[in-house]
Amino acid sequence: MQLSEKIKHSIRDIQDYPKPGVLFRDITPLLANPVLVREMVQQLIKDYSGQKIDAIASTEARGFIFGSVLAYELGCPFVPVRKSGKLPYKTRSQSYALEYGTASIEMHTDAIQPGWRVLVHDDLLATGGTAGATADLVQALGGVVAGFSFIINLSFLPGEKNLTERFGLAPHYLA
Ligand code: 5GP
Repeated sequence: MQLSEKIKHSIRDIQDYPKPGVLFRDITPLLANPVLVREMVQQLIKDYSGQKIDAIASTEARGFIFGSVLAYELGCPFVPVRKSGKLPYKTRSQSYALEYGTASIEMHTDAIQPGWRVLVHDDLLATGGTAGATADLVQALGGVVAGFSFIINLSFLPGEKNLTERFGLAPHYLA
């Protein structure tokens, strides 16, 4: 079976979470499968080892899981992006639209050196709002967005199109 199929088979769908009408993709069964996790990490290393990446920026909380492993494997800094009020040092904030209302995420102002090529990683791409706001923070701090990496793309939602149009970069995903 192909890696993308194995990943899809390991995702558990949770109806009406976190609110009625939403079908949530739960990645915890995938994390419970160390053989599959190793295969995914090896694929990510293969996909990115030839590229110039100076840092990986990931959004809490699920983005941290593979983002930090990938940063470790590529030997580059890991930049945590958190919800407002969670980072202790000076921060730069970015708001973005949710289905209803807005959300705000933050990055430490010294997390990125000017000119760094930063890979934006998260577990799942839906509308692209979170990854787009992360990329906005990278650019606001003088970095260059090297690419977008996800484990899962919800292809019936416009995230892939939105990120490609806004940043001129087609997102990469494993499934
Ligand atoms: P977007 O900003 O692209 O609309 O939504 C993606 C963000 O919300 C990611 O940070 C992701 O972790 C979270 N997210 C939204 N829906 C789901 C889902 O069904 N499953 C998981 N695991 N994360 C989701």
